[in-house]
Amino acid sequence: MQDQFLQQVRRRRTFAIISHPDAGKTTLTEKLLLYGGAIRLAGSVKSRRAQKHAVSDWMEIEKQRGISVTSSVLQFDYDGYCINILDTPGHQDFSEDTYRTLMAADSAVMVIDCAKGVEAQTKKLFEVCKMRGIPIFTFVNKLDRAGKDPFELMEEIENVLGIQSYPMNWPIGTDGNFKGVYNRRKSQIEVFNDGKHGQTVVESVVGDVGDDVFKDLLGEGLHQQLMEEIELLDVAGDNFDLNKVLKGQLTPVFFGSAMTNFGVRPFLEGFLEMTTPPVARMSNEGEIDPESDNFTGFIFKIQANMNPAHRDRIAFIRICSGKFQKGMSVNHVRAKKSIKLAQPQQFLAQDRAVVEEAYPGDIIGVHDPGIFNIGDTLCGNNAKIEYEGIPVFAPEHFARVYAKDSMKRKQFIKGVEQISEEGAIQVFKRPHVGVEELIIGVVGILQFEVLEYRLEKEYGVEIKMQSLPYKYIRWIQQENFDYDRFSLTMDSLLAEDKEEKPVVLFENEWSIQKVEERNKGVVLKSISTKN
Ligand code: GDP
Repeated sequence: MQDQFLQQVRRRRTFAIISHPDAGKTTLTEKLLLYGGAIRLAGSVKSRRAQKHAVSDWMEIEKQRGISVTSSVLQFDYDGYCINILDTPGHQDFSEDTYRTLMAADSAVMVIDCAKGVEAQTKKLFEVCKMRGIPIFTFVNKLDRAGKDPFELMEEIENVLGIQSYPMNWPIGTDGNFKGVYNRRKSQIEVFNDGKHGQTVVESVVGDVGDDVFKDLLGEGLHQQLMEEIELLDVAGDNFDLNKVLKGQLTPVFFGSAMTNFGVRPFLEGFLEMTTPPVARMSNEGEIDPESDNFTGFIFKIQANMNPAHRDRIAFIRICSGKFQKGMSVNHVRAKKSIKLAQPQQFLAQDRAVVEEAYPGDIIGVHDPGIFNIGDTLCGNNAKIEYEGIPVFAPEHFARVYAKDSMKRKQFIKGVEQISEEGAIQVFKRPHVGVEELIIGVVGILQFEVLEYRLEKEYGVEIKMQSLPYKYIRWIQQENFDYDRFSLTMDSLLAEDKEEKPVVLFENEWSIQKVEERNKGVVLKSISTKN
């Protein structure tokens, strides 16, 4: 029994894919599923997307704008590994959601378009990965097309992102003439055969770099160029150091084309060799070993109305240790309550399915009757550990929001509350003012649009929104805070958050300084950490 459990933990690989929109994240995800045998023909992920739209019509907004707002989870097997891929929204306005998703991942794969290099959003998402200190792997995509010189791309990654890089493989032929890759560690060349436009797994010829067959396959010119580039790589670049990879200080780089499948398998295999099974996580009682018997996990994402017909709300749990079994009772540590996890779901390549058992590294979704918060820890056997909280980003945009129809106040409040519990928005109110008027804070301005859209579609409430000039928020840290004795500047506003903690909204940094000076002994903090 124990052996079987350990084997299951050790074969888990849980990672997130990040990219600037259009770099090819969806295509690569789909091809990984294809290589894992989870789909037979590429093209099905798009229809999975379409199905998702059908069941969750607020995602219309994604379709309209061509961006991915929600993150989803997919599981499949490859070569004995059990792989969990966490998809992340590409748009910067949702980087908070990305951060939470990365909390559940053990490593990240960064997809870069070879023609565009490191783009604005790649940079932002990379910073978020760096905060987590997880290993970051790079897949340079679209090598089938004209792009920047691979040496130039390596330099760009190092300079713009400030991380060392090491090409694990090297592209043979660029700018529409992509033939194969050179595997530096194995000193092997792999030349791909033209496939069926990437719909199925691509065949290839693999062999030692010295094998004469490659002179024929590649042609004298390309072969010669490769030999020169190999030499250059060996003398010029950083050394490979797995320790640095695992600490997120060096990114292994792979070249390929998700569309034609060229380089997808070498990437997947190289990546799986290096990335780790679930690692120990910090809790208030020290590190928790994923291989320990007792079940623990935390909630990193809550999403309401994935299926509007049922008005369901799903809490996503990352399992950190022990085995999960359907119907098991767990301790909801914050709420000090025992709850039964019935109908847990897992998100397999093509479908949602009820899960019987799951292991560290896995993500399961459970029905949330409104009892969970992001960051909550769940433990088996009445244990009481709590994982480190997930920081709440400080909102940078604020608006006053009302229901157009005052008769709809109840639905309005319910909708705002539920959406805020998902972590998409933060709700504030003025002290001594009723809940008819709420102040909503968001990290990215698009979240206002999502709020408006969802309140109307899911809760039947039309809202009026009045944008406010504030850009900064500070949480006031003081015992027995007295609202009446607090001194503000003309252009700042006192409010309280959902937990009735006092906050001040500011238009500029100058006012923050002024308010600090006027209220000696009061500490203003830019982040409120849950737990
Ligand atoms: P995402 O926004 O990062 O998920 O990007 P998608 O996977 O949706 O891809 C964006 C566009 O780039 C689509 O039109 C893809 O067909 C195309 N694309 C993705 N990978 C490749 C590739 O390797 N080569 C080429 N030429 N196009 C690609």
